[in-house]
Amino acid sequence: MLQKSFPLKERSMKNVPSFSNSTEFDVIVVGAGAAGLAAAKSLVAAGKSVICFEAADRIGGRAHTDTQIFGVPFDIGAHWLHVEHLNPFIKIAKSLGFDVAPQKDNYLTYGDPDDLLWAEVEEIEDQMAEAAEADHDVSMLDVFQSKSPWSHTAAMMHALSMGRDMAEISVQDWDLEVEGSDWLCVQGFGAIVARHAGDLPVSLETSVSAISRTAKGVTVETSKGTAKAKAVIVTVSQGVLAAETIRFDPPLENERLGAIAGITMGTYNHIALKFAPDALPIQPDTWVTYQLGAQPDSILRGGGFLCNASNHGLTSFENSGTFAQELEEAGQDEAISFALNKLIEIFGSDIRKGFEGGHAMQWGKNPMTLGSYSGALPGSAGLRKHLGRAHAERIHFAGEATHLVEMATVSGAHKEGLCAAQDVLSQLN
Ligand SMILES: Cc1cc2nc3c(=O)[nH]c(=O)nc-3n(C[C@H](O)[C@H](O)[C@H](O)COP(=O)(O)OP(=O)(O)OC[C@H]3O[C@@H](n4cnc5c(N)ncnc54)[C@H](O)[C@@H]3O)c2cc1C
Repeated sequence: MLQKSFPLKERSMKNVPSFSNSTEFDVIVVGAGAAGLAAAKSLVAAGKSVICFEAADRIGGRAHTDTQIFGVPFDIGAHWLHVEHLNPFIKIAKSLGFDVAPQKDNYLTYGDPDDLLWAEVEEIEDQMAEAAEADHDVSMLDVFQSKSPWSHTAAMMHALSMGRDMAEISVQDWDLEVEGSDWLCVQGFGAIVARHAGDLPVSLETSVSAISRTAKGVTVETSKGTAKAKAVIVTVSQGVLAAETIRFDPPLENERLGAIAGITMGTYNHIALKFAPDALPIQPDTWVTYQLGAQPDSILRGGGFLCNASNHGLTSFENSGTFAQELEEAGQDEAISFALNKLIEIFGSDIRKGFEGGHAMQWGKNPMTLGSYSGALPGSAGLRKHLGRAHAERIHFAGEATHLVEMATVSGAHKEGLCAAQDVLSQLN
């Protein structure tokens, strides 16, 4: 089995200004994920002096296409270009020559010849939408009723997309998310984000530990020294903010602290399995699920497979919530075996002959994110609006979690980065 450590850097940035205590930039951007890259690109285009500090040894954050583990594009985080009609990356990808297309309607539910699952998925959706109308926010678990042999599988499909257990899903937060069709990119979503960024002034392996408001602007302490700027845009995840990896002076106000406690990181992971060409008897990009029986503790210990993504031979077992955390704890071997054995139950043991190796992502343990993406705990959906507000005027925040309807997406993060850059420009001009 291929079991490799967390992917290492694939690119270095050439255009990185050096900095010292006396260097003053117009703007410092903290984090080079989709939000930070969008902000930095827009500020550079506006002629501002910018530096972006990124703790990892690569750009992209949760949107990164690895090509080293399997020798083919593997999106270790974001893979689907969600909500086509609002997603700027479709146009960007086309203009850069990437192969993007709508995901085909290929679904297979093992053991469900009468297609009962999808009716059940829609019914749960209707129940959640109705519950979201009430003044009082409740959890998905409060709404869920087990009515048919497919109820738990249908619930799992929703819980998967939220990256958390039913008890931790706010129906109002779920209801706020915009819907739309998904597109896929043959070369990987992360590759689009990286190419679009171009050569920005990103200082890699530069971890920010403190941000202080000063009379003239801000001071940012990093693992490579201190820098000054007129303003800063912070794009780290909710997980990193909650862990207080960065100290703020003045300290973050109570309203924002409440929002950080209420809008938390879910866990959603890919366990990628590489097969020889034609090893799986199924069309590329087919979504495969199987029946999940009643669970003793309301934790949905199951997932779905995206099979043979873009015909590269990679099949990914998608899992979330407590189950994903349990698989992380179990380690690479166990996680890969679980996914492979599940797939063998569906397609038969012959597929083992074509199995070449696997890799299990562990976003919950990744110190750069401490989780996969944000979601509101029941009762906290209304707190998101506090996350994107500026702190002490010059400390701005942007990222997937600050978008009010495209949260948990690359598109949302990108737009929030652009928005924060605009706010800073109007402040500085
Ligand atoms: C497994 C998975 C699947 C997903 N699937 C999809 C999908 O299909 N489609 C979709 O649209 N979205 C998907 N998402 C969500 C999407 O990836 C994120 O919403 C988006 O990439 C977040 O971008 P961001 O800029 O807000 O944050 P990030 O990408 O987390 O960027 C923040 C950056 O800050 C850096 N950083 C952290 N701490 C510090 C520090 N102290 N100093 C300096 N830098 C620091 C991090 O290393 C990171 O690069 C998925 C996410 C995961 C994990």
